[in-house]
Amino acid sequence: MNCPQCKYLLFGLSEPRCPECGRPFEATDFAFPPGGVHFLCPHCRQPYFGNDEFGLPRPRVFQCIKCGRHVAAASMIVHPVRQGVAGESLRYGNVWEHREQVGMRRAFLESAREIALRPKEFFRLAYGTDRGGAISFGIGCGYLAALALNLEMSLLSVMIAGGGVPHPLSYFRPGVFFLIFVLVPILAIVSIYSYAVLIQLALELVGVHHAEFDETIQTVAYAGAVWPAMIVPFVGLPWMVAVVCVGLEQFHGISRRKALAAAILPIFIFIGLSITTGVYLMM
Ligand SMILES: [Zn+2]
Ligand SMILES: [Zn+2]
Repeated sequence: MNCPQCKYLLFGLSEPRCPECGRPFEATDFAFPPGGVHFLCPHCRQPYFGNDEFGLPRPRVFQCIKCGRHVAAASMIVHPVRQGVAGESLRYGNVWEHREQVGMRRAFLESAREIALRPKEFFRLAYGTDRGGAISFGIGCGYLAALALNLEMSLLSVMIAGGGVPHPLSYFRPGVFFLIFVLVPILAIVSIYSYAVLIQLALELVGVHHAEFDETIQTVAYAGAVWPAMIVPFVGLPWMVAVVCVGLEQFHGISRRKALAAAILPIFIFIGLSITTGVYLMM
């Protein structure tokens, strides 16, 4: 039972966090040989054996026979019963990290859906070592966002100016197409890096000094899955901040409060700067 990030041995810990690198884990991230380990109630240390195909306690949430409190298998303390027992990681990497086996298109769509709807699961499964892959995912999302923005603009222009609905492909003139083809990756990379740098500074401000920049970048790049929703800023922006918050929580092993502060602070700075610039330009 080793930390998927730094390989530290995780047996016997009452805090569900790797003491070496800070990455959170759950007992149910691993599979154990039958009868090989005890699962201890975190409240009273009553031991249980695993009983399902992964050697884990099932049901996953139950009432402790000794102290009567509700216990989640995920938060139980794992103790080896005999020598040489190992727990095999069930944290197999997220869908995008397996895109070569899954197939590009399916991996992209499934990742986008997972990140938008169940980000905790997506980030928890991540190996977190594929920075380039995460950024290319972000660029893909940038193209989708550009497409969504284009649709929104044409709809708005029809609503405001009236007239006929423009042909959906009128937009794809070679020049425009080329411009978007080149501009989107640049914009995506610049915004991923600048948001990540500001988050890293904010993390320092709230007292998180062990956060790896690489993982912050991956968090921001994966959160690109929600960029298309930004065409409705009051929906897209909080949604993206929430996804970034969950990613920071999982990757850096920090509390939700600190993750949220680090995700929001750069947005406030950005909005503040934009307003100041706007006012300055108008004067
Ligand atoms: Zn670790
Ligand atoms: Zn108990």
